[in-house]
Amino acid sequence: MAALRLAQAGRDVAVLDWRAQVGDKLCTGIIGKECVTKFPPNPEHVYREASAATIVSPSGHRFRVEKSEPQAYIVDRVAYVNSFAVKAQEAGANYLLEHRVTSLEISKTCASVTATCNGEETTLEAQMLVIAGGFGSPLLRMAGLASGKPEDYMIGCQSIVDAPELQETEVFVGDSVVPSSFGWIVPLTNGKALVGMAPREQVGRHMDRLLENLKDSGVVKNVLGQTQTWGIPIRPLPKTYGARVLVVGDSAGLVKPTTGGGIYYALLSGEFAAQTIGEAFEADNFSSRQLAHYEKAWKGVFGKELRVGYYARLLFETLNDQQLESLLEEFLSEEMLNEVMNAPDFSFDWHSNIIMKVLRHANMRKIIRSFGPAVAPFAARLLRARA
Ligand SMILES: Cc1cc2nc3c(=O)[nH]c(=O)nc-3n(C[C@H](O)[C@H](O)[C@H](O)COP(=O)(O)OP(=O)(O)OC[C@H]3O[C@@H](n4cnc5c(N)ncnc54)[C@H](O)[C@@H]3O)c2cc1C
Repeated sequence: MAALRLAQAGRDVAVLDWRAQVGDKLCTGIIGKECVTKFPPNPEHVYREASAATIVSPSGHRFRVEKSEPQAYIVDRVAYVNSFAVKAQEAGANYLLEHRVTSLEISKTCASVTATCNGEETTLEAQMLVIAGGFGSPLLRMAGLASGKPEDYMIGCQSIVDAPELQETEVFVGDSVVPSSFGWIVPLTNGKALVGMAPREQVGRHMDRLLENLKDSGVVKNVLGQTQTWGIPIRPLPKTYGARVLVVGDSAGLVKPTTGGGIYYALLSGEFAAQTIGEAFEADNFSSRQLAHYEKAWKGVFGKELRVGYYARLLFETLNDQQLESLLEEFLSEEMLNEVMNAPDFSFDWHSNIIMKVLRHANMRKIIRSFGPAVAPFAARLLRARA
């Protein structure tokens, strides 16, 4: 998105990616209504519209949540992300695929990047650099923006399966599925589906068990290929800019900590980066101070979402199965659904308002208080996160 917007503005842009196809990385491909409106996918890249999902509680109770209109879209993620690269190329950006960036240097007068392709080295010089290298990028350390270790993260695991009867997404919670997190099965097209989970640490046995359970219940007929894993950051970098450099998307940790969804914020941050770089060119000023506008821009739009989502996640992680069960029962009760989920400000893309509404609801406050002192500090921290 950064390359597309900069190329559209007439800037000279080069994109280096070690993959043969941009966008070809592990992901489920669910995006919200707002993302679809702002960054529309080609209709042929949309597998399904989703207006309902079922949440399966630790005891196996199934809560179905339905809205009258689609809230989320399941897309062919590779094709969707690649479509922006195609547009950027049409606008004049130069793509160097299968080029792995191995080092970068930032000086007073320029930024330079060295990449290898088939054993050959190429060095490019630029006025500005955007690091969009995804989870755990070592390039951050080279740019002096991180120790190289992500701030906090989950490990996304996913398998493609045959599930010909499945029509709607199902989400599974509880220690027996995956401790401190959740699992999913998401229908695609042609009877295929994605089964996954996002634990805090590598726990292959949980994934194997979920796949076995789904096979035993007849939902999954066959598992097609090996489970793949990839990191999902859930906390932003302390600083996402420096002299001549900006960091976007997963590299900057700009992911919804509640669901691990990062496509929308990656696209938004790419747009903010292009805007800030345009201003830097106009001012002929590529200093850290000038580029701080970028962080201000993304924080202004979704900084609170990241903060509230992160503390909501920590609260969720403290709950045992029994507590989770009673919380879900209340959260998905008819009264709460009418007040919160069916309210006009409900959004798949923005969670902080819903989280706060739920947390402040009298019935919910009573339940959380009953969980005792192990949970209370997390609830208090979450309430403060909105400020
Ligand atoms: C299992 C799983 C399921 C997910 N499901 C969803 C979902 O349903 N919805 C959602 O919104 N998000 C989801 N996410 C998160 C989402 O995939 C990411 O947030 C999103 O892809 C971030 O985009 P990005 O462009 O920042 O990073 P990436 O998509 O990771 O792109 C980084 C790019 O940088 C390239 N690169 C890295 N290092 C170098 C280098 N040194 N030299 C050259 N190129 C380099 C890579 O090849 C890659 O193309 C999921 C993640 C996982 C792991």
